[in-house]
Amino acid sequence: MSIFGEIVGVPEGTTFESREAVRKAGLHRHGIAGISGAADEGADAIALAGGYEDDQDFGDVVIYTSEGGNEGRKQVADQAFTKGNKALALNKSLGLPVRVIRGHRHKSPYSPKSGYRYDGLFAVDDYWHEKGQSGYTVWRYRLRKLKTGEGLGPDATEGKTEAKGPAPKKTAVVSRIIRDTAITRQIKMVHDYRCQVCNERLEGPAGPYAEGAHIKPLGTPHNGPDEESNVLCLCPNHHALFDMGGFTVNQDLTFNGIAGKLRTATLHKINVDHLEYHRSRYGKPS
Ligand SMILES: [Zn+2]
Repeated sequence: MSIFGEIVGVPEGTTFESREAVRKAGLHRHGIAGISGAADEGADAIALAGGYEDDQDFGDVVIYTSEGGNEGRKQVADQAFTKGNKALALNKSLGLPVRVIRGHRHKSPYSPKSGYRYDGLFAVDDYWHEKGQSGYTVWRYRLRKLKTGEGLGPDATEGKTEAKGPAPKKTAVVSRIIRDTAITRQIKMVHDYRCQVCNERLEGPAGPYAEGAHIKPLGTPHNGPDEESNVLCLCPNHHALFDMGGFTVNQDLTFNGIAGKLRTATLHKINVDHLEYHRSRYGKPS
């Protein structure tokens, strides 16, 4: 059974001489593996220890490249979507925080000079697969540092590091950031707030509701543009399904994963390159 969230008595910034000391402190259950967790539970911790050159570390945002399919540092096979990889993906759908531990061998200005350091709780905002530098499939995760107490439910206490007895169980809430921009508002109006997949139009007392879904995601490392050709007008269900790769859209606008074809509008041109980007990274790996 994994403990998600803070470990009582081990505040952020605590340093350790070895992975074994990290393990003994209860932060991470393994001595070598990067991901601590189980495929049906989620990942409670990851160690950034210098395994992959594809990792990108921006301090509060980390693009983590997962493990597997490698011999030493060399990728020799596609990474499977099982075990730790699946565990970390589950954090996104369950809204679970993951503890991040940086090691001195992790190539980043944020790494400790020696040993290991517990760097706090992160949310798994996004995950996808792509061909790594070796040509084999790797799974990548966008981790975002949580502010103190963010997403940890009513039991979370700020800066709480000393307590007796077992660690309090912290529940996390799933949060999806719906970015409402001038562009997404425009597209929703073009489609009269009807989902381009199921044609549903949600009507509340305050007016109709739809969501603008960016096809190639905004932000690092995707850096999709906030422009009309990169936005779909979707109902919340189909937006969530699209974001998690439950369906993708082909060049001819037919779907993979569900039946049907994307409804289009004359005033809304879609860039098929963005659809290809989404399909190749979020769809079922071949
Ligand atoms: Zn829909």
